[in-house]
Amino acid sequence: MAREAKRLTAPLDREEWRPMTKRRLVILGGGFAGLRALFRLSEIDDLEIVLVDPRSTSLMKPALPEVALFGKSVEHVRFAIEPVVRRAGARFVHARPIRVLAPERRIEFPDREDLRYDYLLITTGAMKDYDAIPGYREHGHSPCDDAEAPRLARALDQFDGGPITIGSARSEWGRRVEGPSLAAPCEGPVGEVMFMLDEELRHRHIRDRASIRVFSPGREFFEDVGPTVRAALAPEIERCGIRVTSQKSLRAIGHDHVDFEDGESWESALTIVIPPYTGNPLVVASEALGDEKGFVPTDRRMRHLDFPEIFAAGDGTALAMPKLGHIAVHQADIAAAALERDLTGRGEIPDYAPEIFCIMNRGRHDATLILSNHLFGGDIDRAFSSPITRMLKWGFDTLYFHSRGHLPPDFAQRTLVELLSRA
Ligand SMILES: Cc1cc2nc3c(=O)[nH]c(=O)nc-3n(C[C@H](O)[C@H](O)[C@H](O)COP(=O)(O)OP(=O)(O)OC[C@H]3O[C@@H](n4cnc5c(N)ncnc54)[C@H](O)[C@@H]3O)c2cc1C
Repeated sequence: MAREAKRLTAPLDREEWRPMTKRRLVILGGGFAGLRALFRLSEIDDLEIVLVDPRSTSLMKPALPEVALFGKSVEHVRFAIEPVVRRAGARFVHARPIRVLAPERRIEFPDREDLRYDYLLITTGAMKDYDAIPGYREHGHSPCDDAEAPRLARALDQFDGGPITIGSARSEWGRRVEGPSLAAPCEGPVGEVMFMLDEELRHRHIRDRASIRVFSPGREFFEDVGPTVRAALAPEIERCGIRVTSQKSLRAIGHDHVDFEDGESWESALTIVIPPYTGNPLVVASEALGDEKGFVPTDRRMRHLDFPEIFAAGDGTALAMPKLGHIAVHQADIAAAALERDLTGRGEIPDYAPEIFCIMNRGRHDATLILSNHLFGGDIDRAFSSPITRMLKWGFDTLYFHSRGHLPPDFAQRTLVELLSRA
């Protein structure tokens, strides 16, 4: 009955038609964190949920390296947000807000009336700042979004040999929230791209005409995991003939070279980078919403440090380190539970217990599952490579795509984590 009532109110677009008894939650962003929270909160009675996103599709970023390297269609890594939101009994607003006026609980748009909220959940992700790298637009490539990944695929089609450089630009973080600070937001995509590239070039019989060099701005490559995971990956990197250099900060990309801050230049016929992450422009433009770098400062229950009715989850939070889908979803679960508690007085709020949990493809038939909480002072640091792991990643991506944003059930993941912790 409550769900039916929600459906009836969903298409209404005018502020004054909102029933006074309903409280309104606005979710900004329909990515990993936003959809997870939407699904968790959509059963709450007397709550109107409005999800806002300037994109019409939700993008599965973890599958983008396959678009760039293995010819996967970009249409298989994104799906329309509106039907998903409607099925959850909520309303979708396809628009780009200008700023949040937090003291007034109001969101401003350039071309439609303001949206008021009782609660706000910010899941807008981080911005990939390609333009911060001189020469990127002319000479650089990246697998990081659905415009850049197909562009990289086209560059690879034309690649016929020469030195290839892959790495992350250095990102800067704010200081308001305590936690680990990494030089790169997440080096998993770099690892994935270098291994997949090695396989692809062998497949095309041109591996002997190309070199692959990787740079990392961190003290060590894969700074976010512990020594056991790094030791497990080292022989694979060596076997593929990939050279890795750490503590290299990218300065600029030229048409046949890459420049670093220490004055060194590498020859490079193809340069693939993860650009610096910065705070979302909306957060930057909204007074008092972000920290000094535009990331949303929250406590460990994902509540904004200054505005108790604002929550945040995912890459756009100051707490999310590294910027990883698994952490975004964990934070979304906590934010949803905290919101439910505020709204209904019911439910347990899970503890914030971040961990690195991801599957890194190493080709078409192999992948490494990584589970590590070393960065957060824990003692788990495991890597497990096998074709079965590759199938798990394929299964995860397929489920997420065909179920339109749903993840495997919690018990499946818990069992996997337990098995891996004991292995
Ligand atoms: C190439 C690549 C590979 C990756 N591989 C993995 C992996 O294998 N495993 C893993 O766990 N993680 C991986 N990640 C990281 C993972 O994709 C992110 O951590 C995750 O997407 C973060 O989710 P999010 O919801 O915070 O942000 P996003 O997924 O970025 O979603 C943010 C949403 O907010 C919307 N938005 C932006 N601005 C506004 C605004 N002003 N108002 C409203 N909405 C807005 C965006 O359009 C978007 O839909 C990878 C990332 C990349 C780039």
